[in-house]
Amino acid sequence: MADGPHILIVEDEAAQLELLTYNLEQEGFQLSQAENGELGLQLAIEGKPDLIILDWMLPIVSGIEVCRQLKRKKSTRQIPILMLTARTEESDCVRGLETGADDYVVKPYSVSELIARIRALLRRTRPASVGEILSYDGISLDPEKHKVKRNGKTIRLGPTEFKLLSTFMEKPGRVWNREQLLDRVWGIDVDIDFRTVDVHVGRLRKLLDQDGEPDPIRTVRGTGYSLDIDGK
Ligand code: CA
Repeated sequence: MADGPHILIVEDEAAQLELLTYNLEQEGFQLSQAENGELGLQLAIEGKPDLIILDWMLPIVSGIEVCRQLKRKKSTRQIPILMLTARTEESDCVRGLETGADDYVVKPYSVSELIARIRALLRRTRPASVGEILSYDGISLDPEKHKVKRNGKTIRLGPTEFKLLSTFMEKPGRVWNREQLLDRVWGIDVDIDFRTVDVHVGRLRKLLDQDGEPDPIRTVRGTGYSLDIDGK
Protein backbone atom coordinates (compact mmCIF):
# COMPACT_ATOMS: atom_id res chain seq x y z
CA MET A 1 0.00 0.00 0.00
CA ALA A 2 1.25 3.47 -0.83
CA ASP A 3 2.41 5.44 2.18
CA GLY A 4 3.91 8.85 2.90
CA PRO A 5 4.68 11.46 0.26
CA HIS A 6 6.33 10.25 -2.93
CA ILE A 7 8.99 12.54 -4.38
CA LEU A 8 10.49 12.27 -7.84
CA ILE A 9 14.03 13.65 -8.14
CA VAL A 10 15.17 14.62 -11.64
CA GLU A 11 18.88 15.41 -11.42
CA ASP A 12 21.76 14.41 -13.70
CA GLU A 13 24.66 14.99 -11.29
CA ALA A 14 25.31 11.73 -9.48
CA ALA A 15 26.73 13.36 -6.33
CA GLN A 16 23.72 15.69 -6.03
CA LEU A 17 21.33 12.83 -6.60
CA GLU A 18 23.03 10.75 -3.93
CA LEU A 19 23.00 13.59 -1.41
CA LEU A 20 19.31 14.29 -2.01
CA THR A 21 18.39 10.63 -1.87
CA TYR A 22 20.21 10.09 1.40
CA ASN A 23 18.70 13.12 3.11
CA LEU A 24 15.16 12.71 1.85
CA GLU A 25 15.09 9.04 2.79
CA GLN A 26 16.06 10.05 6.31
CA GLU A 27 12.96 12.25 6.34
CA GLY A 28 10.77 9.29 5.46
CA PHE A 29 9.94 10.30 1.89
CA GLN A 30 9.46 7.65 -0.78
CA LEU A 31 11.69 8.40 -3.73
CA SER A 32 12.08 7.73 -7.39
CA GLN A 33 14.91 9.11 -9.51
CA ALA A 34 15.55 10.14 -13.09
CA GLU A 35 18.89 11.22 -14.53
CA ASN A 36 17.51 13.06 -17.53
CA GLY A 37 14.48 15.07 -18.52
CA GLU A 38 12.96 12.44 -20.76
CA LEU A 39 12.90 9.79 -18.05
CA GLY A 40 11.76 12.43 -15.58
CA LEU A 41 8.72 13.19 -17.73
CA GLN A 42 7.91 9.53 -18.08
CA LEU A 43 8.18 8.82 -14.34
CA ALA A 44 6.14 11.90 -13.49
CA ILE A 45 3.32 10.86 -15.79
CA GLU A 46 3.34 7.17 -14.83
CA GLY A 47 4.21 7.49 -11.16
CA LYS A 48 2.12 10.54 -10.24
CA PRO A 49 4.47 11.66 -7.45
CA ASP A 50 3.31 14.07 -4.75
CA LEU A 51 6.15 16.47 -5.58
CA ILE A 52 8.98 16.79 -8.13
CA ILE A 53 12.45 18.15 -7.49
CA LEU A 54 13.63 19.22 -10.91
CA ASP A 55 17.12 20.31 -11.92
CA TRP A 56 17.22 23.20 -14.36
CA MET A 57 20.07 21.95 -16.56
CA LEU A 58 19.34 18.43 -17.71
CA PRO A 59 20.38 16.32 -20.69
CA ILE A 60 17.90 15.35 -23.46
CA VAL A 61 14.97 17.46 -22.23
CA SER A 62 15.74 20.56 -20.13
CA GLY A 63 14.22 21.09 -16.71
CA ILE A 64 12.16 24.03 -17.91
CA GLU A 65 10.73 21.99 -20.78
CA VAL A 66 9.86 19.15 -18.39
CA CYS A 67 8.13 21.70 -16.17
CA ARG A 68 6.25 23.25 -19.08
CA GLN A 69 5.01 19.88 -20.32
CA LEU A 70 3.91 18.67 -16.89
CA LYS A 71 2.05 21.89 -16.13
CA ARG A 72 0.27 21.67 -19.47
CA LYS A 73 -0.99 18.15 -18.81
CA LYS A 74 -4.20 17.78 -16.87
CA SER A 75 -3.08 14.64 -15.01
CA THR A 76 0.19 16.18 -13.76
CA ARG A 77 -0.63 19.89 -13.56
CA GLN A 78 -1.33 19.87 -9.83
CA ILE A 79 1.98 18.20 -8.83
CA PRO A 80 4.18 20.84 -7.16
CA ILE A 81 7.56 21.35 -8.84
CA LEU A 82 10.60 22.61 -6.95
CA MET A 83 13.36 23.70 -9.35
CA LEU A 84 17.07 23.45 -8.55
CA THR A 85 19.21 26.06 -10.19
CA ALA A 86 22.80 27.30 -10.21
CA ARG A 87 23.37 30.90 -9.08
CA THR A 88 24.12 31.97 -12.68
CA GLU A 89 20.79 30.57 -13.83
CA GLU A 90 18.77 32.18 -11.08
CA SER A 91 17.25 34.92 -13.22
CA ASP A 92 16.24 32.29 -15.76
CA CYS A 93 14.65 30.32 -13.01
CA VAL A 94 12.53 33.20 -11.90
CA ARG A 95 11.17 33.07 -15.43
CA GLY A 96 10.70 29.35 -14.80
CA LEU A 97 8.25 30.21 -12.07
CA GLU A 98 6.18 31.97 -14.68
CA THR A 99 5.93 28.76 -16.68
CA GLY A 100 4.52 26.95 -13.69
CA ALA A 101 7.30 25.88 -11.29
CA ASP A 102 6.03 26.28 -7.73
CA ASP A 103 9.29 27.23 -6.06
CA TYR A 104 13.03 27.14 -6.64
CA VAL A 105 16.23 26.70 -4.64
CA VAL A 106 19.66 27.98 -5.68
CA LYS A 107 22.63 25.59 -5.60
CA PRO A 108 24.52 25.14 -3.36
CA TYR A 109 21.52 24.94 -1.08
CA SER A 110 21.25 23.78 2.50
CA VAL A 111 19.45 20.49 2.80
CA SER A 112 17.40 21.71 5.73
CA GLU A 113 16.18 24.69 3.68
CA LEU A 114 15.27 22.39 0.81
CA ILE A 115 13.32 20.11 3.16
CA ALA A 116 11.50 23.10 4.64
CA ARG A 117 10.48 24.20 1.13
CA ILE A 118 9.32 20.66 0.30
CA ARG A 119 7.20 20.53 3.43
CA ALA A 120 5.70 23.92 2.72
CA LEU A 121 4.64 22.80 -0.76
CA LEU A 122 3.25 19.51 0.54
CA ARG A 123 1.34 21.29 3.29
CA ARG A 124 -0.55 23.05 0.53
CA THR A 125 -1.21 20.05 -1.69
CA ARG A 126 -0.97 16.98 0.58
CA PRO A 127 -1.49 18.33 4.11
CA ALA A 128 -2.09 14.93 5.69
CA SER A 129 1.22 13.63 4.32
CA VAL A 130 3.14 16.15 6.45
CA GLY A 131 1.10 15.54 9.56
CA GLU A 132 -1.44 18.39 9.36
CA ILE A 133 -4.71 17.71 11.17
CA LEU A 134 -7.59 17.86 8.70
CA SER A 135 -11.13 18.84 9.53
CA TYR A 136 -14.36 18.93 7.62
CA ASP A 137 -17.86 19.54 8.94
CA GLY A 138 -17.37 18.07 12.41
CA ILE A 139 -15.01 15.33 11.21
CA SER A 140 -11.36 15.58 12.21
CA LEU A 141 -8.48 13.41 11.09
CA ASP A 142 -5.09 13.34 12.78
CA PRO A 143 -2.59 11.66 10.42
CA GLU A 144 0.16 11.31 13.03
CA LYS A 145 -1.99 9.77 15.73
CA HIS A 146 -4.06 7.94 13.13
CA LYS A 147 -7.26 9.10 14.78
CA VAL A 148 -10.60 10.14 13.39
CA LYS A 149 -13.38 11.85 15.30
CA ARG A 150 -16.85 12.93 14.31
CA ASN A 151 -18.45 15.52 16.59
CA GLY A 152 -15.82 14.69 19.20
CA LYS A 153 -16.54 10.97 19.16
CA THR A 154 -13.73 8.62 18.12
CA ILE A 155 -14.33 6.53 15.02
CA ARG A 156 -12.18 3.49 14.42
CA LEU A 157 -11.24 3.04 10.78
CA GLY A 158 -9.23 0.30 9.08
CA PRO A 159 -6.06 1.40 7.24
CA THR A 160 -7.73 1.53 3.82
CA GLU A 161 -10.74 3.51 5.04
CA PHE A 162 -8.37 5.86 6.88
CA LYS A 163 -6.42 6.56 3.68
CA LEU A 164 -9.62 7.01 1.72
CA LEU A 165 -10.96 9.52 4.20
CA SER A 166 -7.65 11.36 4.36
CA THR A 167 -7.62 11.59 0.53
CA PHE A 168 -11.16 13.00 0.53
CA MET A 169 -10.42 15.42 3.37
CA GLU A 170 -7.36 16.88 1.66
CA LYS A 171 -9.63 18.15 -1.11
CA PRO A 172 -13.23 18.56 0.04
CA GLY A 173 -15.57 18.94 -2.88
CA ARG A 174 -13.18 17.44 -5.41
CA VAL A 175 -14.69 14.61 -7.43
CA TRP A 176 -12.41 11.58 -7.52
CA ASN A 177 -12.85 8.83 -10.06
CA ARG A 178 -12.13 5.25 -9.06
CA GLU A 179 -8.80 5.12 -10.85
CA GLN A 180 -7.56 8.21 -9.02
CA LEU A 181 -8.63 6.71 -5.71
CA LEU A 182 -6.88 3.43 -6.53
CA ASP A 183 -3.67 5.32 -7.37
CA ARG A 184 -3.81 7.37 -4.21
CA VAL A 185 -4.96 4.81 -1.68
CA TRP A 186 -3.70 1.48 -2.98
CA GLY A 187 -0.70 2.68 -4.99
CA ILE A 188 -0.07 2.85 -8.70
CA ASP A 189 1.40 -0.61 -9.24
CA VAL A 190 -1.52 -2.64 -8.04
CA ASP A 191 -4.03 -4.49 -10.13
CA ILE A 192 -7.25 -4.11 -8.21
CA ASP A 193 -10.81 -4.14 -9.46
CA PHE A 194 -12.68 -0.81 -9.42
CA ARG A 195 -15.39 -2.49 -7.34
CA THR A 196 -12.91 -2.75 -4.46
CA VAL A 197 -13.07 1.05 -4.26
CA ASP A 198 -16.86 0.91 -3.98
CA VAL A 199 -16.64 -1.72 -1.23
CA HIS A 200 -14.27 0.39 0.88
CA VAL A 201 -16.20 3.62 0.31
CA GLY A 202 -19.27 1.70 1.48
CA ARG A 203 -17.45 0.63 4.65
CA LEU A 204 -16.21 4.15 5.27
CA ARG A 205 -19.74 5.51 4.95
CA LYS A 206 -21.06 2.98 7.41
CA LEU A 207 -18.34 3.78 9.95
CA LEU A 208 -18.89 7.53 9.65
CA ASP A 209 -22.64 7.12 10.01
CA GLN A 210 -22.66 5.90 13.60
CA ASP A 211 -25.02 8.50 15.05
CA GLY A 212 -27.28 8.88 12.04
CA GLU A 213 -25.30 11.95 10.93
CA PRO A 214 -25.63 12.96 7.24
CA ASP A 215 -23.54 10.96 4.79
CA PRO A 216 -20.56 13.20 3.95
CA ILE A 217 -19.65 11.23 0.81
CA ARG A 218 -21.51 12.02 -2.36
CA THR A 219 -21.71 9.45 -5.15
CA VAL A 220 -21.21 11.16 -8.47
CA ARG A 221 -22.98 8.97 -10.97
CA GLY A 222 -20.78 7.64 -13.76
CA THR A 223 -17.68 9.20 -12.17
CA GLY A 224 -16.85 8.42 -8.58
CA TYR A 225 -17.01 10.06 -5.20
CA SER A 226 -16.60 13.37 -3.43
CA LEU A 227 -16.54 14.59 0.16
CA ASP A 228 -19.43 16.96 -0.05
CA ILE A 229 -22.23 17.64 2.42
CA ASP A 230 -24.75 19.81 0.55
CA GLY A 231 -22.04 21.68 -1.31
CA LYS A 232 -20.14 22.68 1.85
CA1 CA B 1 22.25 19.52 -14.01
